[in-house]
Amino acid sequence: MAKTFKNFINGEWVEPRSGAWFQNRNPANTADIIGRFPDSNAADIEAAVRSARRGFDLWRRTPAPARGDVLRRVGDLLVARKEKIADAMTREMGKVLAETRGDVQEGIDTAYYAATEGRRLFGHVVPSELRQKWAMSYRRPMGVVGLITPFNFPLAIPTWKMFPALLCGNAVVIKPSEDVPHTTHLLVEILLEAGLPPEVIQMVHGRGETAGRALVEHPQVPVISFTGSTATGAVIGETCGRMHKRLSLEMGGKNAMIVMDDADLDLALDGVLWGAFGTTGQRCTATSRLIVHRKVHDRFVRMVAEAAEGLRLGDGRQDKTDVGPLIHEDARKKVERYMGIAEEEGLEIVTGGKRPGGARLGNGFFFRPTVVEGVRPGMRMEQEEIFGPVLSVIRVNSYEDAVKVNNGVAYGLSSSIYTTDVNRAFRAMEDLDNGITYVNAPTIGAEAHLPFGGVKATGNGHREGGWEVYDFYSETKVCYVDYSGTLQRAQIDNYD
Ligand code: NAD
Repeated sequence: MAKTFKNFINGEWVEPRSGAWFQNRNPANTADIIGRFPDSNAADIEAAVRSARRGFDLWRRTPAPARGDVLRRVGDLLVARKEKIADAMTREMGKVLAETRGDVQEGIDTAYYAATEGRRLFGHVVPSELRQKWAMSYRRPMGVVGLITPFNFPLAIPTWKMFPALLCGNAVVIKPSEDVPHTTHLLVEILLEAGLPPEVIQMVHGRGETAGRALVEHPQVPVISFTGSTATGAVIGETCGRMHKRLSLEMGGKNAMIVMDDADLDLALDGVLWGAFGTTGQRCTATSRLIVHRKVHDRFVRMVAEAAEGLRLGDGRQDKTDVGPLIHEDARKKVERYMGIAEEEGLEIVTGGKRPGGARLGNGFFFRPTVVEGVRPGMRMEQEEIFGPVLSVIRVNSYEDAVKVNNGVAYGLSSSIYTTDVNRAFRAMEDLDNGITYVNAPTIGAEAHLPFGGVKATGNGHREGGWEVYDFYSETKVCYVDYSGTLQRAQIDNYD
């Protein structure tokens, strides 16, 4: 009998008011059931928000350094449980253990960064234009924040949102991805163990169209932070615009790696394999386009295809596995639909392009690492996010063409260039229209203490991580103190 997991609301583990449940299965072996989780509805969200408002009243009065101390203890517990969480994460999400360990490490880094921020949370004191008057700004928490997270970074992304939100003094309601609910459950257990007052955190499991939507539409949740697809982000954006909510959107990508004719091809090969097929291509920063200079095109594509062919598919918890499964059957069917589109667009599938054969992988959502050649700018294979282990190769004649191709998509998350020409590398940093550019490294590899996010259809101008996210989760208040004992009129009395 599968284990039953509950929501965390009002300081208690509770069954959903909806009375409904869903099953969470291992994508590498669907016979392995991790447990049943609440399929919550608007009534569960209502209870969570009510409790979170009480939590907010308490938590906003807790000094920020003390809030930071709780997060430091959270970091310590994540360190102690890194292996256990990584194992649980691979079991429900599929990516290999090295990657899920990295996912936990990102949570640890985010916790320790947040802990120190509790002793900063800087405001400003600036000179007043009048005598005997102080002028200053400081940060205030905003209230109950609603967090909605995707499946591909089951621990890191919830921590990117939760830790700065909590450090700033807000209470949290999180609706984790229905594909990876177990990892957030383990994280909430740690927050409670670290001493977070229970009503400050609520976790409501369920589907996007029901629980997620109810959270976004709740009038007493003034802040929403969402990471997921651009289509879902658009729906959420409409609601938040209408209700005047503060909203952070981190959405899709179609990231490119550029390989110039002077690149170190062995280095670029390691980079593209990791960038395109790590996490089975299910990263927002995945390398899904490879833009190659014509002079090295044929040689490099041959190298990539041969290496991709040699990657071993399997359960991410086994040592020899290079590439795990896709998250579910719908994701695999989507990749297969794009193989049909590649055919319609007259493209050559150099390697992969189908499910693996044989019984060993028969119970999981596996798809072979795929390289598609001959892709031209504007084709659907070049423009649309596939979110699977598929690399579209585009041949270019010059650096200028490469930049044009990189910038010619709707998205703008990450880009990368391999070159040994230092001038060209610096020009690329300026020319590539993305939130992140890597030089001689793949399109993935963000660090927790720098801002993370993209331009164009990838985001709405906010950033996660680093110092900028603290602006998102706090409101600036300005105070003036006049100790002159007389009425001093700004803009008037100082210019007499
Ligand atoms: P998704 O959009 O299907 O779901 C994301 C979350 O939104 C889930 O928790 C889901 O339940 C919820 N949701 C769905 N419909 C909703 C609605 N109407 N109202 C409220 N919530 C709703 O995305 P996914 O498949 O989990 O993740 C993959 C996508 O996420 C990709 O497009 C990827 O590029 C993107 N992503 C972006 C970043 C980034 O930082 N830019 C990071 C990771 C993933």
